[in-house]
Amino acid sequence: MADSPVELPGRLAILPFRNKVLLPGAIVRIRCTNPSSVKLVEQELWQREEKGLIGVLPVRDSEAAAVGSLLSPGVGSDSGEGGSKAGGSGGESAKQDAKNGKEPIHWHSRGVAARALHLSRGVEKPSGRVTYTVVLEGLCRFSVQEHSARGSYHVARVSRLDMTKTELEQAEQDPDLIALSRQFKATAMELISVLEQKQKTVGRTKVLLETVPVYRLADIFVASFEISFEEQLSMLDSVDLKVRLSKATELVDRHLQSILVAEKITQKVEGQLSKSQKEYLLRQQMRAIKEELGDNDDDEDDVAALERKMQNAGMPANIWKHAQRELRRLRKMQPQQPGYSSSRAYLELLADLPWQKVSEERELDLRAAKESLDQDHYGLTKVKQRIIEYLAVRKLKPDARGPVLCFVGPPGVGKTSLASSIAKALNRKFIRISLGGVKDEADIRGHRRTYIGSMPGRLIDGLKRVSVSNPVMLLDEIDKTGSDVRGDPASALLEVLDPEQNKTFNDHYLNVPFDLSKVIFVTTANRMQPIPPPLLDRMEVIELPGYTPEEKLKIAMKHLIPRVLEQHGLSSAYLQIPEAMVELIIERYTREAGVRNLEQNLAALARAAAVKVAEQVNTLRLGKEIQPITTTLLDSRLADGGEVEMEVIPMGHDISNTYENPSPMIVDEATLEKVLGPPRFGDREAADRVASPGVSVGLVWTSFGGEVQFVEATAMVGKGDLHLTGQLGDVIKESAQISLTWVRARAADLNLSPTSDINLLENRDIHIHFPAGAVPKDGPSAGVTLVTSLVSLFSNRKVRADTAMTGEMTLRGLVLPVGGVKDKVLAAYRYGIKRVILPERNMKDLAEVPSPILSGMEILLVKRIEEVLDHAFEGGCPLRSRSKL
Ligand code: ADP
Repeated sequence: MADSPVELPGRLAILPFRNKVLLPGAIVRIRCTNPSSVKLVEQELWQREEKGLIGVLPVRDSEAAAVGSLLSPGVGSDSGEGGSKAGGSGGESAKQDAKNGKEPIHWHSRGVAARALHLSRGVEKPSGRVTYTVVLEGLCRFSVQEHSARGSYHVARVSRLDMTKTELEQAEQDPDLIALSRQFKATAMELISVLEQKQKTVGRTKVLLETVPVYRLADIFVASFEISFEEQLSMLDSVDLKVRLSKATELVDRHLQSILVAEKITQKVEGQLSKSQKEYLLRQQMRAIKEELGDNDDDEDDVAALERKMQNAGMPANIWKHAQRELRRLRKMQPQQPGYSSSRAYLELLADLPWQKVSEERELDLRAAKESLDQDHYGLTKVKQRIIEYLAVRKLKPDARGPVLCFVGPPGVGKTSLASSIAKALNRKFIRISLGGVKDEADIRGHRRTYIGSMPGRLIDGLKRVSVSNPVMLLDEIDKTGSDVRGDPASALLEVLDPEQNKTFNDHYLNVPFDLSKVIFVTTANRMQPIPPPLLDRMEVIELPGYTPEEKLKIAMKHLIPRVLEQHGLSSAYLQIPEAMVELIIERYTREAGVRNLEQNLAALARAAAVKVAEQVNTLRLGKEIQPITTTLLDSRLADGGEVEMEVIPMGHDISNTYENPSPMIVDEATLEKVLGPPRFGDREAADRVASPGVSVGLVWTSFGGEVQFVEATAMVGKGDLHLTGQLGDVIKESAQISLTWVRARAADLNLSPTSDINLLENRDIHIHFPAGAVPKDGPSAGVTLVTSLVSLFSNRKVRADTAMTGEMTLRGLVLPVGGVKDKVLAAYRYGIKRVILPERNMKDLAEVPSPILSGMEILLVKRIEEVLDHAFEGGCPLRSRSKL
């Protein structure tokens, strides 16, 4: 950019700029189409060897309308006649185009001399009109002295307005000017740094700021802004440096502010935009993924489908209203919004719940029900009778709120299958809800929806799964619910089982009442004792005590083996388990009250048979059938030279039918050992374990039915302390204390010490252990067993291995009756124990024990502990004298 003052000629061809100003330092590109300006460019610039200067003079439209842009500023739109004097300085001269009556042209009296940096000529087709595109650079200001015409364009006599070099040097000393230029530069710098953040191409402008004199900078900066024509004119007119600088500072500052404001607004808008744009993008992606998966339905359709489902759910009116409110909320939410999915899941639940749906109950045929019960269950005569009675009451009075049946018994005795038989007899759906280990009330009643990850309780969830409102619902292991800080599930269950309250059961998650009154509840428990009394009160307990080995054998032969075979796709043609082997399984591989382990063992045999059959089929196919055929054919071919024929087995042909006589797997002892492993229980276990003094055999009752429980006592050097191990409860610990006290008090009588002055515990500690140490034990019935083991220890005599005992003992040595006698006797029988010592008052319970078992056992009924000891030791207890108590 020229810095030194330009040589300005006295006359300049004038190019009019309509409503635009070219400022010194600015560069513009214009396209000349108007004949007069085309002529001007052609004559003054194009045809000259040495390109001269031309003057650019602003022209104001009479309407002052801004027409065109800088690129097409309507250059040379008018021609005028020369010779007219320009108006006063800074003013405008108007000239009436008298010839054609056009509007007067308002010439501005000041302009800028410009030089052409670039020129190009074009010919328009098809008119052949010539146009020029000129790049002009503004150089210096001039004022018009006189207009005249040169052909079709104007010329003017001009005089220079800008200062000469010396004038400039002088002016630059002016402190006001220095201050002004500093201020201008600071503002300009600020503007540049703002622009720098937006676009990276302002480096050049920065260089300008340092190299170009400030008075030129002012023009250059202002020229680059979009300001009004008036402001451009006033900038052009600011010949005085100070005026020009302060005006430029003001304009630069204004521009800066407007950029800052615009920036702020864009930032705000961008923030919002980017969020919604992001959402839009994500949604587009989701749609694309869905399309890819062939899953085209939109969220909108989804919600509509949900609404339809809700409409068909048959909700009561008030709940429907509630559901609609929730649905409206859902509609207002974006799927990505937190809470959307939980709200949706809730509505899905409302729609899925069987508000009205029921399974049609058919007319109850008691005979058929009895048959079906008999068909599925062996024995259990009393239980089945009770169930039939229960069903009969329902038949007579369908709406009657019968009691809730509660099957109590060890695992695997058929509690669950009985309940499902009830459902079958009533033609209702069956659902089992396990309550084992439920400690939190919320498991039954659900979590409030305010919790993250909240869910409905197990009952509502079960109803959703079974999708009818009148199923038979089995609440399994109701004795295994416990209570802790999170509330008491039992109290929630009370509400469930209470016919008065369960009409409006309130699940915290569901938050609207649900009618449970159509559900038939059946419960199961292993033991009655842990069930809270108020709950027990609502239930009718039916006990299933466990099976004798004979019963188990019958169950296995009639029910379990056929079922297991069917489950494994086998028949008796493939697997045969003789009765004797089932007996062996019962005896050696299971020791349980129910038949669950038995069933598992039978299933293991069935799996083994299935493998064998599969292998056999393969070898049979090649070995027996095809090979002989082909070889005979082959032989005959070799013999008479005939052709080979192939045996073709049709596709899908049932191989098992091909061979009428596959060899079935007949289970024998060796198979048992191979498949089930070595026997887990032996007859000699009791004998082995009581082989040393201090061990006695007790009978206890656990949730798995009756069990044989050994008690081990030993003595060692110590201070007379009693140590107890084996996960014992308080009651059993007290029993141990009582036993030790009794033995110590009777030491002399029992021949354990020569006189009653001698302390049995002198210098020794006693340790009593109940194996298995990991199973918690409690209850008073180990009293007699504890005494026996202590007497055995102190007298150094072994107890009889064939005798087991049970009974609570008082401090005075009386033997009190205990519970679970049938289970205990059965357990002893399973163990191969021949003699059982029982409290006399338990005699009545023996009626429950099957007679074949009783006949094979010796039952010894006792009143006092001395009698127990008498029976427990070979040759009787060595009592010095009978107790006088
Ligand atoms: P529980 O619920 O008491 O633990 P299940 O009902 O699950 O026991 O019974 C376990 C298995 O034993 C089931 O396959 C059941 O059919 C079978 N079962 C139990 N008792 C009998 C019985 N008396 N007659 C036929 N099968 C029985």
